[in-house]
Amino acid sequence: MSAGPPGPEGPGPDARPAALESGLRAVRERVDAAARAAGRDPRELTLVAVTKFFPAADVRTLAALGVTDVGESRDQEAATKAEQVAAAGVGGLRWHFVGQLQSNKARSVAGYADVVHSVDRAKVAVALDRGAGEHGRRTGCFVQVDLAPALGAGVDAGRGGAEPGALPAVTAAVAGSEWLDLLGLMAVAPREVEPERAFAALAGLAADVRREHPGAVLLSAGMSGDLEQAVAAGATHLRVGGAILGPRPVPR
Ligand SMILES: *Cc1c(COP(=O)(O)O)cnc(C)c1O
Repeated sequence: MSAGPPGPEGPGPDARPAALESGLRAVRERVDAAARAAGRDPRELTLVAVTKFFPAADVRTLAALGVTDVGESRDQEAATKAEQVAAAGVGGLRWHFVGQLQSNKARSVAGYADVVHSVDRAKVAVALDRGAGEHGRRTGCFVQVDLAPALGAGVDAGRGGAEPGALPAVTAAVAGSEWLDLLGLMAVAPREVEPERAFAALAGLAADVRREHPGAVLLSAGMSGDLEQAVAAGATHLRVGGAILGPRPVPR
């Protein structure tokens, strides 16, 4: 999977680095504009480039363009890619796991993920804690909440996560673990719900969580199509794929 010389230094035979550079620049401009519009400091926003289905060469190119945080959603793919990127000598990247997480994959995920955005059950927190302990490294965790019930949207509108009523139990499981740090909540706006409404509900749930866990001040929300609304609602971690990398290839 050779992709020509990575990095921004001049047009190579491969147009990919230039495409990533312009995608990234456009997204950074959107993020900065959204922060200004919301009266927020752009430095409190972390852009996570979601590289799922894209090759390790793209991660290397993004790293050369200054990206520090990358997101993946499938364990096997993420583990391989993290290894390939490290073998290419690229260090200092933070890996975010944003996909649905089975507890039997948690141990593997803890091997490379610095942050997990998709903890949705106490059982997953327990497995992740054990894995993080085995690897001797702390793992930041967002608890993913399904906003559909909070919005009266149909069950099939949901995009994964714990029911709002389950949040006290799941957040307590993370907070009470040895190797996990509870960062805050994560959500994907449900289908057919305006993102403003979805993220307002998320901000309300996050405030409830903070009453119990005052340190859980981060908020993972916003993707290619709704990052502006997420920034307006207080998101600190934006998970953006397509707007940076283009249409995703068909998964292998
Ligand atoms: C794929 C994915 C993203 C990125 O979505 P885009 O629409 O490509 O920006 C963000 N969050 C999660 C949980 C994802 O699975």
